[in-house]
Amino acid sequence: MYTCGPTVYDYTHIGHARKYILDDLIKRSLLYLGYKVKHVMNITDVGHLTSDQDEGYDKIEAGANKYNKSVWEIIKFFTEDFLNNLSLLNILKPNIICKATDHIKEQIRQIQKLLNKKYAYDTPEAVYFDTKKFKRYFKLFGQNPTEKLIAAREEVNTGNFKKNPTDFVLWFKAVGRFENHIMRWESPWGVGFPGWHIECSAMSMKYLGEQFDIHTGGIDHISVHHPNEIAQSECATCKTPFVKYWIHHNFLLVENEKMSKSKGNVYRLVDLIEKGYDPMHLRYYFLQTSYRNTLNFTFTGLEQAKNSYERLINLLTNMYIQIKNKKYIRNIVLKKYKTKFTEAIEEDFNFPKAISIVWETVKSDLAPDLVISTVINFDKVLGLKIKQKIIDNVAKIKQAHKLIKKERLENLLKDRMLAKQEKNWKKADEIRNMLKNRYNIEIIDTESGYYVKLK
Ligand code: AMP
Ligand code: ZN
Repeated sequence: MYTCGPTVYDYTHIGHARKYILDDLIKRSLLYLGYKVKHVMNITDVGHLTSDQDEGYDKIEAGANKYNKSVWEIIKFFTEDFLNNLSLLNILKPNIICKATDHIKEQIRQIQKLLNKKYAYDTPEAVYFDTKKFKRYFKLFGQNPTEKLIAAREEVNTGNFKKNPTDFVLWFKAVGRFENHIMRWESPWGVGFPGWHIECSAMSMKYLGEQFDIHTGGIDHISVHHPNEIAQSECATCKTPFVKYWIHHNFLLVENEKMSKSKGNVYRLVDLIEKGYDPMHLRYYFLQTSYRNTLNFTFTGLEQAKNSYERLINLLTNMYIQIKNKKYIRNIVLKKYKTKFTEAIEEDFNFPKAISIVWETVKSDLAPDLVISTVINFDKVLGLKIKQKIIDNVAKIKQAHKLIKKERLENLLKDRMLAKQEKNWKKADEIRNMLKNRYNIEIIDTESGYYVKLK
């Protein structure tokens, strides 16, 4: 499984988080269903221009200018920010995380193959992929060839040497608008840097082979990035299909517009944490919508998700407390509910339905230990940290009880001192006896006061 990763030029936001949580849910589902999963994710740190169609500036260099840092500092900083978000959201780490700048040689090799097979052509400004040579290019993912050509023509202004508007860059040369491009490497076609799309073909093939099972990305990749990946991969290997299943996640919206940096409508995970939300509230929120649908982010929606999640954890905590001997919590999963749960995730990853089955299990009249073990089993897919939250909750409750007990003891000791001062010996003795019998605490009076001894 290969998932298109982030371009690390700025802080990651919860729109990205939705995509990476959905990837994680798919991966966890496959593992739950018994598949072995090798998961590769790239980090784009060169060549992704401000437009996916090779227009504008390199996003990384723009990020470096914006924050007045070197490109390498920017890459390091925002990769860490992104990985930190993944871990807060309980997203399983991919088996391999690979950076474009660490795989320049592999990309050059692929470009050379495409040139050798005449699917690519060299020009003074760049090496291009010739989209006319790959007949299926204009129909991939059910696209309309005429519309695709018109869209490309409208967007593309540069590229004087391009044969067709849809042709895309495999290698940018450090000339013209990129004369001062900072990140640059030697290549058979001159000094420059790779185009964005080639990294995904080169790295996925390196780690997963020339053909593999699953490739994911946002729906924005349907029109340009993924068709380009297919074209350059299948032409380089002469094998089809490059990928068996493509999964495209829909967007997180705000007031019905895509959440994105350029629209200035982004929230970061830290913003939500500062407002008192747990990352698991966001995860629960996202679980309630299919990956195929848009989700309009609102704080009302997040608040509802938080309430449902906390109610679930509280119900399970109460069940846990009811179990007399925790050692005997059975590691059994209720078959009836497991079957329903499995059917839900097998039905095009229907997580909203999977969540409803969690509630059905919790509301059933089955023994608490069975309910708990079943829900904890489902959480292998949902990744909502249910077991950990129950344990944390129980520890919190114990701590609260301890505090109450301590306060009650302190009050009793104060009352006894007061009784003694008032020479109310009867009351003082009553308190002394109660402390002894109920709390196993003995009071030893001294000349300056008293001390207590645990019996
Ligand atoms: P960006 O770095 O903004 O180009 O985003 C990287 C990828 O994250 C995009 O290609 C999308 O697949 C995904 N993405 C960005 N914004 C959103 C959003 N609002 N909702 C869901 N996915 C998004
Ligand atoms: Zn990609």
